[in-house]
Amino acid sequence: MITVTQPFLPPLEEFNEYLNKIWESKWLTNNGQFHQQLEKELAEFLGVHYICLFSNGALALVTALQCLRITGEVISTPFSFVATTHSLWWNNIKPVFVDIDPIYGNLNPDCIEAAITPQTTAIMPVHVYGNPCNNEKIQKIADTYGLKVIYDAAHAFHIRKDGNSILNWGDLSILSFHATKVFNTFEGGAIICHDSTTKKRLDDLKNFGIHDEVTVVAPGINAKMNEVQAAFGLLQLKYIEQLIYKRKQIAELYRQLLKDIEGISFMRDIEGVDHNYSYFPVFIDEQYGKSRDELYEELKMKNIFTRRYFYPLISEFSTYKGLPSSSPGNLPIATKMAAQVLCLPIYPDLEFDTVEMICQLIKNK
Ligand SMILES: *Cc1c(COP(=O)(O)O)cnc(C)c1O
Repeated sequence: MITVTQPFLPPLEEFNEYLNKIWESKWLTNNGQFHQQLEKELAEFLGVHYICLFSNGALALVTALQCLRITGEVISTPFSFVATTHSLWWNNIKPVFVDIDPIYGNLNPDCIEAAITPQTTAIMPVHVYGNPCNNEKIQKIADTYGLKVIYDAAHAFHIRKDGNSILNWGDLSILSFHATKVFNTFEGGAIICHDSTTKKRLDDLKNFGIHDEVTVVAPGINAKMNEVQAAFGLLQLKYIEQLIYKRKQIAELYRQLLKDIEGISFMRDIEGVDHNYSYFPVFIDEQYGKSRDELYEELKMKNIFTRRYFYPLISEFSTYKGLPSSSPGNLPIATKMAAQVLCLPIYPDLEFDTVEMICQLIKNK
């Protein structure tokens, strides 16, 4: 069985060394030594100033919105994983969906202004598949209208543009370290921020709002990363560059083998961007002669489990379907992309032979 992704697990003996230390110290969570070390090493590796670790990405998103006291309406994209919009709903914020760009599937900055109302307080874009959003345009609009920008950067681990981490964009960026992501801590997440005051506030909020032994500054949540997660992260970090390189080779092989198949298109690397190859989406149009869903089912019968990220659109789910901005007429590009996309298997241990076999199946229909 070939799945769309598979986590990389380092040799168990190496992880045991970390576990032995946890057993010795008997310190399991609450800013332990591995937690502190992972924050330090990640900040250096990613090229960011401040990072706060979280138990998962969804709680990091919810807490980021709490931290900046976001209320009212937030402009976001329907072409993402549901957690993006759920984090707004959990904060009693009304999501306002705008359409995406047809090349990379990111929130289209040209659609933002028309969606701004007196209730709008922030924009929440997503770097879909790790392709950087048009930050320049988004930030300019945010500055003009006095809005915050919170990036759902769950797919953007280690993405750089012109040598700089895109995680430094906006007011806050949120990462996910879920088992299915490029870098994982089983479950986990993080917020990147730009100053020590915000870092402290986030650290308080993820620990019940506890500021010190006698001061609680806010109705915070429990969203702390524990020592076992942090230890696993430290171990992953040792391998991460070779893992991303392995993914790159797989992406290149896919591109080479799929390039002449009519009706199949895919995304290319963007000049000046260091990608992480977290996903390999292809798009199936009428020329192919078969629908996306037919191909999906056929591959499934051959035990190849691709995924239709992101279909259905978030705006199609029952919670959000009734919102005015959810109408397909408002989201024509997103609706089209969701109908055509298929994410093919990509992960470090995927054999080149398997990639060739998958491409053969797509070619032979
Ligand atoms: C994975 C993901 C999340 C949620 O992260 P978890 O760590 O699974 O809670 C949020 N947004 C996007 C775009 C994601 O892909």
